[in-house]
Amino acid sequence: QRRPLIAGNWKMNCLRADGLALASSLAAKASEKGDLGCDILVCPPATLLSDVVGVTHGSVVAVGGQDCHVAISGAHTGDLAAPMLTDIGAQYVLVGHSERRADHGESSTDIRKKAIAAHDAGLIAVVCVGETEEERDLGATLPVVNGQVAVSLPDGATAKNTVVAYEPVWAIGTGRTASVEEVADVHRAIRAELVKRFEDGNEFRILYGGSVKPSNAKELLGVEDVDGALVGGASLKVEDFWQIIESCA
Ligand code: 13P
Repeated sequence: QRRPLIAGNWKMNCLRADGLALASSLAAKASEKGDLGCDILVCPPATLLSDVVGVTHGSVVAVGGQDCHVAISGAHTGDLAAPMLTDIGAQYVLVGHSERRADHGESSTDIRKKAIAAHDAGLIAVVCVGETEEERDLGATLPVVNGQVAVSLPDGATAKNTVVAYEPVWAIGTGRTASVEEVADVHRAIRAELVKRFEDGNEFRILYGGSVKPSNAKELLGVEDVDGALVGGASLKVEDFWQIIESCA
């Protein structure tokens, strides 16, 4: 039985006051409610990571970075090394988000190296994959996503150190959500790849991301092989994110 993971990706949002208020409310709610049957993760911007670890300490809310470098240290101005994330108490890191693939030209090969760096530092890598609208229109969704999964996941990936997140690029921040059938098809294909390649392929969590909100969370989380959600915009509002968390139950 896979335990769902509800993850909030704050992206480049939240100044200190808002970010800490958001994280503290989540931690307080989580502590008040007891076990919700799912894991909760927030991925704040780098400036807030350490403080968010502080205000969520002792709660079930885990903290993750939004990216890491492939190297453990060195001359890489502006980047964060995976051991730096572990050092401040983060437990997860997103790698290969489509915004990084697009804005920073990251390839699946780069992402595999980042996942390895994350694993070496003891972090759980949330490896993101997803097709563009053009690729979907060309009927290339499954080959594109399968290709990204094949190359982005290192051989050392296990269900314990890796989570896969399927985020169709055209559904991110657009209010357009993939249909239940579209999500089911892709998640089934990813599961098949994982099972083929990894001994514990059946135990990996596969998250869906792309305009997940309170109104569609229950339906999406009910799809076979959807083991949680990676939430952008709706993770910035406590009430919305909380409703999505409660949709797991
Ligand atoms: P939205 O939920 O804002 O569409 O963003 C999804 C996402 O990219 C999460 O990583």
